[in-house]
Amino acid sequence: MGLVVHKYGGTSLGDADRIRAVADHIARTRRTGDDVVVVVSAMGKTTDDLLRLANDVSSVHPPRELDMLATVGERISMALLCMALADRGVQATSFTGSQAGIITDTDHTRAKIVDVRPDRLLAALALGQVPVVAGFQGVSTDRDVTTLGRGGSDVTAVALAAALGASVCEIYTDVTGVFSADPRVVPSARRLPKVSFDEMLEIAASGGRVLMLRSVEYAKTHSVRLHVRSSFTWEPGTWIAEEEPAMEQAIVSAVTDDTSEAKVTVQGVPDRPGIAAQLFGTIAERSINVDMIVQNTSDAGLTDISFTVAREDLAATMAVCREVAPALGAAGVSSDDGIGRVSLVGAGMKSHPGVTARMFRTLAEAGINIEMISTSSIRISCVIRADRVEEAVRSLHGAFELGAAS
Ligand code: ADP
Ligand code: ASP
Ligand code: MG
Repeated sequence: MGLVVHKYGGTSLGDADRIRAVADHIARTRRTGDDVVVVVSAMGKTTDDLLRLANDVSSVHPPRELDMLATVGERISMALLCMALADRGVQATSFTGSQAGIITDTDHTRAKIVDVRPDRLLAALALGQVPVVAGFQGVSTDRDVTTLGRGGSDVTAVALAAALGASVCEIYTDVTGVFSADPRVVPSARRLPKVSFDEMLEIAASGGRVLMLRSVEYAKTHSVRLHVRSSFTWEPGTWIAEEEPAMEQAIVSAVTDDTSEAKVTVQGVPDRPGIAAQLFGTIAERSINVDMIVQNTSDAGLTDISFTVAREDLAATMAVCREVAPALGAAGVSSDDGIGRVSLVGAGMKSHPGVTARMFRTLAEAGINIEMISTSSIRISCVIRADRVEEAVRSLHGAFELGAAS
């Protein structure tokens, strides 16, 4: 007998039938003898709807109030799921993030977990109950309700799995696992039976939104085994765990796409030590995450620095850049929100240097212009026009023969 954590995403809990199907599965799992802790997301598009309501009501959104609003969605799910479980004779108790002991810092709308104190969950388990926890939320060290960022229920699930020593954290979603590309973009994409933490980190970081990046980081740090699987078919999905020596290393495992970022360029900055440190130091102080950075070669002692940020952070980033531009001696600041990114990820790339050239050739043959490039040892990313991203993903998926064998 062990303990498993189940996390159910929005589509998995999209309506009453779905909630009943999830309750059936939890009841089934309990009958195998395992203890279950459940983490739920908000039903369907509830979080989007709540945030839209905030926009309709006001153009000013105090972050504390945004969090108070957004945490409502998960509370609806947890209460309804407990009712469906009661209907099946399974004793279940719902807990908000705060009640479940998810303690965070005070950075509203993107809070980080600083401690997990699951005493109430352990007490419920000891009574033979199924604790159902509202994902995506916690309570700050200042005792305010916080949220962990979009997609944050994945982090709640992994953090609880780590704190409770669960044998596995099962992430139930609307696809049957992690695929060689988003199956909505590439219908012939193949399900990957196993993915290493490092590959999954790169897939999540470069747009494969099936798992929130921070949940993969947390799982890797705390050695939590993840199983991404479908709440529609319940079939075995994708295991994410430490790389095993025998694991077959595909050269390229997945193509990812990301159209959630925008590009900022600071023009004509003096090419001397300290400039980048000052610029990115100030941006980091405002808790803005910078992704790709490219500094062009200098011309007459001046250079342009371009970087990408989440589109929702664009206005704040532009404000910071305009503020520091005079001190940097920059000529100007511009932005471009029509960019997208396509990436190839694969552990086998380390030992296969030809991948980059083949990627560029494939994009060139499709007439797609590359605007920025960044690489890690197991990923290559190209920034291109956003409206060419899906075509680029399909071309690369075909060129690298990632689809299911026919
Ligand atoms: P949930 O609500 O369950 O958290 P998400 O919408 O966050 O679900 O994540 C699941 C979605 O991720 C899928 O519907 C799929 O379209 C998308 N996705 C993007 N890239 C991939 C990939 N490589 N493999 C599987 N799914 C992917
Ligand atoms: N409901 C939240 C969101 O939509 C958290 C989650 O689904 O993981 O971002
Ligand atoms: Mg998700």
